[in-house]
Amino acid sequence: MIIGDRMTVEVLVEIMGIDKTFTYAVPSNLEDRIIKGIKVIVPFANKLIEGFVIDIFYNKKYDYEVKAIKDVTDIVISEELMNVGKYMSHKTLATLMSCYNTMLPKALKASYKANIGKKYDTYLKLNNDKVSLATTDKQREILSLFSDDLILKKDLNVSKAILKTLIDKGIIEEIKKEAYRYSFNSTYEDKIVTLTNEQNNAYNMIKSSFNTFKPFLIHGVTGSGKTEVYMHLISDVIKQNKDVIVLVPEISLTPQLVGLFKARFENIAVLHSKLSDGERYDEYRKILNGEVHIVVGARSAIFAPFKNLGLIIIDEEHTDTYKQENNPRYHAIDIGLFRAKNNNIPIVLGSATPSIESYTRAILGTYTLINMPTRISKNMPKVHLVDMKSEIRKGNRIFSEVLKDKLNKVLDEGKQAIILLNRRGFSTVITCKDCGYVEKCPKCDIPLTYHKTSNTLRCHYCGFGKSNITTCPSCKSKNINSLGMGTQKLEEEIIKEFPKAKVIRMDIDTTSRKGAHEKILASFKNQEYNVLVGTQMIAKGLDFPLVTLVGVVNGDAALNIPDFRSSERCFDLLTQVAGRAGRSKDLGEVVIQGFNMDHYSIIKASKSDYKGFYDEEIKIRKRLGYPPFNNLCLIKISSREYQLVTAESNKIANYLNGNIPNVLGPSISSIPKLNDIYYMQILIKYKKTEDVIEHLKYIKDLYKNNHKVKVEIDINPLRI
Ligand SMILES: [Zn+2]
Ligand SMILES: [Zn+2]
Repeated sequence: MIIGDRMTVEVLVEIMGIDKTFTYAVPSNLEDRIIKGIKVIVPFANKLIEGFVIDIFYNKKYDYEVKAIKDVTDIVISEELMNVGKYMSHKTLATLMSCYNTMLPKALKASYKANIGKKYDTYLKLNNDKVSLATTDKQREILSLFSDDLILKKDLNVSKAILKTLIDKGIIEEIKKEAYRYSFNSTYEDKIVTLTNEQNNAYNMIKSSFNTFKPFLIHGVTGSGKTEVYMHLISDVIKQNKDVIVLVPEISLTPQLVGLFKARFENIAVLHSKLSDGERYDEYRKILNGEVHIVVGARSAIFAPFKNLGLIIIDEEHTDTYKQENNPRYHAIDIGLFRAKNNNIPIVLGSATPSIESYTRAILGTYTLINMPTRISKNMPKVHLVDMKSEIRKGNRIFSEVLKDKLNKVLDEGKQAIILLNRRGFSTVITCKDCGYVEKCPKCDIPLTYHKTSNTLRCHYCGFGKSNITTCPSCKSKNINSLGMGTQKLEEEIIKEFPKAKVIRMDIDTTSRKGAHEKILASFKNQEYNVLVGTQMIAKGLDFPLVTLVGVVNGDAALNIPDFRSSERCFDLLTQVAGRAGRSKDLGEVVIQGFNMDHYSIIKASKSDYKGFYDEEIKIRKRLGYPPFNNLCLIKISSREYQLVTAESNKIANYLNGNIPNVLGPSISSIPKLNDIYYMQILIKYKKTEDVIEHLKYIKDLYKNNHKVKVEIDINPLRI
């Protein structure tokens, strides 16, 4: 069939988990709206499906019948972001279609018939030429309310009938404007401060690289004033009429940072998971419409559709939430580096505790390292380490002598305290309640996971197994089990032990409702409470001037998580939490309790010695061949049938063993069975992605349409 001077397009669609492209004709009435990257609706096998236009042709001849596209949406992926999608698909093995969809806010990627649309507000404007047409006093009274500004119609509290008359006469005009649903009222006062020498140095180094691709790593202790450096840079970039992306780990946890940004900069968009679909749609449109030049957001804000990017900032760069845990498993830093390179701009990663990988890149010169070792208030908190082995002998199971004394003192003086309980790493690992002993894998140096059904201890990296222990090999105690204490229990214990304590709790249970975080933090700030109890979520980004004591009940718990990154996470958590004390004039104190108090991650964290920690950690990574010395890839195999998951895992491992040198497993996952589905995993260590990628693709494709066995591939997993 020959199509005259018509337009045809190449459309990317996903059919049964695989990217495909097909040619479609464009009906003449839709031609005007077709551009590269636009989402269209096309017929496929008696259905309508969505796809993206990836190429446009004119007068092309076809010797087969070309179907016509059905409809055109107003959703477009820019050329730059189309390239980002290709890169992401290549790096994560996810389909290009799923990558493109990930880049759009949920409200847009839902079916094209989704009900979320633009919202409008009606404004009123006085038509000065026609004022003389007002005939009555009442009419003139209404007109006197107007100045040159627009008035929001719903805010004008006057007789509807008279208003209508004025509108009918053309004296008042109605104007519709797109309304945005999200509002964040900053209660922060903006104080532009003079930069310290250290801040100024960081600012100048980055500023001199504007309009050049250059990655920076700012290693700044908590309270070193990184945020002020960011804000100075942002202010310069937007003066050049360019745009800035600022990533923060999770906005609902750091409302203070958003507050500061909102107070300094007028027009910013905010993107995070707690927004409703409608709110997120609006924030996204502000960016598209060019109404804002700054976006502050969580992971997916890295895809913000700015057309003139000038700077990317990723704060707390070591945070796990920057990696997406489901398909496509992209890392925001990776995408950020790619966009910075394409746009020829600097990218700034900031952290008090950079990831081992990032710091290594800085040492090797891939990133430019900027050190900010001084806390603005000059006060580093005093840290006390308490070994609970001796406390237990004295009968103190939960609170050590030191913590009791300090907390009583804080409450007597009318100050505030934060008490943290680490909940992760409890449920699956056997620990000695008297000395903290944990059984580890001799080959992988990670804690063994307890399997109830077989009463065994297993390594979920390499599959090593042994029978469960009933007596502690270290102290001979029989008090050995896997049960930990919850935050609610801790709250009760504090109330019992400290009569002056007014306790508020922050954990997953008390913060599930929208706005709950903010409420808890505000009531603590207003001093309705004097003790804030919580999980890891209270460790980050909070800034309370009255907090002079931070207690960590189980400071070494993070070490018991069966993951090679647990020392790094332990160091990070303790450093962050220590940074919460004494943010103002008062000297802060931190009490960290635990059993493995001589572990380097705890000792170095107590001294805020990142470099010391890094030097110890990198030796272990090297000895065991973990990142950054190797890349890792996790292959997760799951099925409802136990036999099948074992058999297929063995088949995959055999195939890989024949082609790749370092294959560990198959082994049972740390969570072996969830919702009646069995999980196994294979871990591979490798140097170069190109050596393994074809084999991984082969396996992925092999199981693509298998409905009984699911195979997921996670390249550079953050949790194993
Ligand atoms: Zn092992
Ligand atoms: Zn023991």
